[in-house]
Amino acid sequence: MHDVIIIGAGPAGLSAALWCDELGLETLLLEQGAEIGGQLLSVYNPIGNYLGVEASNGRELRDIFARQVADREFDMWTEVEVETVDLRARRVALRSGEQLQAIAVIIATGVRRRRLGVPGEAELAGRGVVESATRDRELLAGRDVCVVGGGDAAAENALILAEVCPTVTLVHRGESLRARREFVERLRGEHCITVFKEARLERIIGESEVEGVEISRAGALKPFQMAVQGVLIRIGVEPNTELFRGQINADERGYIVVNGEQETSVENVFAVGDVSNPLAPTISGACGAGATAAKVIAARLNSAKA
Ligand code: NDP
Repeated sequence: MHDVIIIGAGPAGLSAALWCDELGLETLLLEQGAEIGGQLLSVYNPIGNYLGVEASNGRELRDIFARQVADREFDMWTEVEVETVDLRARRVALRSGEQLQAIAVIIATGVRRRRLGVPGEAELAGRGVVESATRDRELLAGRDVCVVGGGDAAAENALILAEVCPTVTLVHRGESLRARREFVERLRGEHCITVFKEARLERIIGESEVEGVEISRAGALKPFQMAVQGVLIRIGVEPNTELFRGQINADERGYIVVNGEQETSVENVFAVGDVSNPLAPTISGACGAGATAAKVIAARLNSAKA
């Protein structure tokens, strides 16, 4: 029996583990990936809005976090696949067969990038279908590219690619872009960027590399094909909450609902970070939520012992 089991070692889970340790709670942190850091590992832009530390990318900030927790007493297991979780019993079953139990569980499973699910997306991943304009800028330089999405991420990536690509076509399903005004104005000012609204990417074409895309547009009779050599899809994120479905209150998109103490609808089960914060998913918020959950759990355990 552990005091606390934390599922997920992104900033929220790491902060929760650090604080649990600080407060004398016997803690086990579980991470399914080979590396800790969560989404920090796929942030390629500089991070300048996390107070106290600046980093040239997410991995650098992750390394700082990792150094800070390295000497802590809590147990951390990576490459651990959680098979089932019984939240009411606070029992965690691992794929390896091991059964774990805790007084409190902290869910810090984060979010993942949404996939479009069109033909060619998975098949040509890494062969013209890229994840990040910053990381893959050199690879895409000189190529015509298509970016899918209408939010900040799609707009920002389109603007970065416009610096090195002859044409950038932004394909958005809605009538108006969701991206913040500054990005929208900059998109308008870039002559090499064309925005297709009320449009959908139907398929990515290519044998061994991306050669083109097929796009359908509202009002057009049939889809048309366009030659591009790069595709970047940024259509938001979705929460990693499949393990908990049906056991806990979640909103219509699957994000876990918490109160001001980060507690969920299940007693002694907490959720921290992006998995419970669709409105303001920030590193700062994730770290703060991890600390809050740990403090609340420690206070409860102490008052139970007193
Ligand atoms: P958002 O959720 O903000 O936007 C997702 C976009 O993808 C929407 O325009 C949506 O269309 C579209 N979309 C969703 N599903 C589909 C689908 N199946 N097919 C086609 N289009 C789809 O996500 P982002 O990834 O842009 O941003 C995530 C968060 O990160 C936001 O909070 C954002 O502000 C932040 N961010 C901030 C940046 C910055 O400040 N520099 C940079 C990047 C991200 P519709 O509008 O029709 O729903």
